[in-house]
Amino acid sequence: MVGVQGAEQVKKRVRAVLTAPHLAAFLPAIMIMAFWNGGENLMVLVAILFPGLLAIGGALTRPKPTRGVANDEITGLPRRPKLLEQLDRGFASDADFEKSCFVLEIDDIQKLSAQLGEESIRQVLRTIADRVKATLRETDLMCALNTGRFGISIDKRQRADLEATLQLAARLQAAVSEPISVDQTRVLLSSCVGFALPSRSPEATGEALLAAAESALGVAVLAGPGSIRAFSNGMAARVGRSEHNRDELSRALDAGEIRPWFQPQVSVKTGRVSGCEALVRWQHPTMGLIAPGAFLPAISKAGLMERLGEVVLFGALSALQDWDRQGLEIPAVAINISAEELNNPNLSEKIKWELDRFDMRPNRLVVEILENVIAQTEDDVARHNINALADLGCKIDLDDFGTGNASIASIARFNVHRIKIDRSFVTHIDTDTDQQNMISAILTIADQLDVGTVAEGVETHGEHTKLVALGCDHAQGYSIAKPMPAQTFLDWVKAHEPKLLSSEAVPRLA
Ligand code: C2E
Ligand code: CA
Ligand code: CA
Repeated sequence: MVGVQGAEQVKKRVRAVLTAPHLAAFLPAIMIMAFWNGGENLMVLVAILFPGLLAIGGALTRPKPTRGVANDEITGLPRRPKLLEQLDRGFASDADFEKSCFVLEIDDIQKLSAQLGEESIRQVLRTIADRVKATLRETDLMCALNTGRFGISIDKRQRADLEATLQLAARLQAAVSEPISVDQTRVLLSSCVGFALPSRSPEATGEALLAAAESALGVAVLAGPGSIRAFSNGMAARVGRSEHNRDELSRALDAGEIRPWFQPQVSVKTGRVSGCEALVRWQHPTMGLIAPGAFLPAISKAGLMERLGEVVLFGALSALQDWDRQGLEIPAVAINISAEELNNPNLSEKIKWELDRFDMRPNRLVVEILENVIAQTEDDVARHNINALADLGCKIDLDDFGTGNASIASIARFNVHRIKIDRSFVTHIDTDTDQQNMISAILTIADQLDVGTVAEGVETHGEHTKLVALGCDHAQGYSIAKPMPAQTFLDWVKAHEPKLLSSEAVPRLA
């Protein structure tokens, strides 16, 4: 392999010499020399042959395009065939190093494309490609697979055990998650990574190794944004994306495989649990636990969003009733309402009926509505529903605040109880002054509108502490707890509340 690379180096140098622009400048001098030494005939011969020689030399040493595939037009990275070639080399008996294959995909790339537009997304992809590449060694290779998906071949050096490989995957993710500025907008991204070690490849070919890494990526995507998965022999060769048909989804909804999990929200000042959000999960009999991002599009396509809403509402109220019976003080549960449900003229009636059935006061149910949905809602069914739910006594939380384009007027027009500040504004708030300024501005708007605030996606203790200092009302995120099944939630609250007395669970007001 070194031999092959050495020959490539020599070819590159010869080509550089033969194709250098200054070489043509020597043509007149060479022709004069030819005239002195061999007269007019030699001069004519040189004049004809010299440019031809240059052309032939250049052509012979020009790198062969890999099976005729041009590099990716946006990032300039090579494409799949080049990656396969490199991975194949890792299996050669004389290979210096075996190769591990990583596949990284930016989360929610479609949504982002729609938000940012084509030119900005190109810029984002170029930045990501440069950053990820900068974390690699010269001998590693990064290629563009699909839009937002990159394949990487990495030399497997000594001590490249699973732990080191996981750390490398996390480094790749860290390169993606640094903020990117495009058109005066800060973009914060996350990514999933799947990888396959050569020892685990189903066959000793680049093709098999890449398929294994893509399969691991498929499992990571099912697990939710920001996940990392290694290929293991039990995984299917390639995991398909949300190809669930209507019957399968309908059956899963009826069988109780699809049901809500719960993530706590705490009061930033006191640390007490102030509520929770119901987030749907699918416990699939063969595929394991599936995150909503991987099956909600299929549910929507199958026209089953309303059915899903019913299942989640029922699950949420059942859980709340059960926690009440167990003596827990959970003030409210929040459910996410889709645009489809919001367009059903009977929505508020349905919710009222369900609340009555559980004998639950309406103010214990929070309905989360996306900022984007509110922004588009004029005098229509959705608007009627939101007002009817507020009149009923349910609380309205404005979800993903800051990512849509709801005007201040539209927030004021609806009876919004709280705004949920999107995770992209919360990330790195403890270290990034731009983020702090942004949150301060949002908190000021909320204050003037007299609505409460919930910070979403609080991942670290540092972020939580900063939120205390800035005066946000509530927090939700992995630093407090991840979403969990109803029973686990009950145990978690029982363990969490006494900890508050020891005062170390939650940072105090600065
Ligand atoms: P969302 O409503 O913005 O929910 C918050 C998402 O952020 C959840 O993802 C949650 O697990 C995740 N999250 C919470 N804390 C953290 C954190 O500290 N860091 C990070 N990185 N993520 C955090 P999940 O459960 O995968 O839900 C994704 C989206 O799916 C939700 O976004 C919501 O739009 C939708 N969804 C979930 N459940 C339902 C449902 O029952 N009905 C409807 N219509 N949509 C739902
Ligand atoms: Ca939500
Ligand atoms: Ca949200």
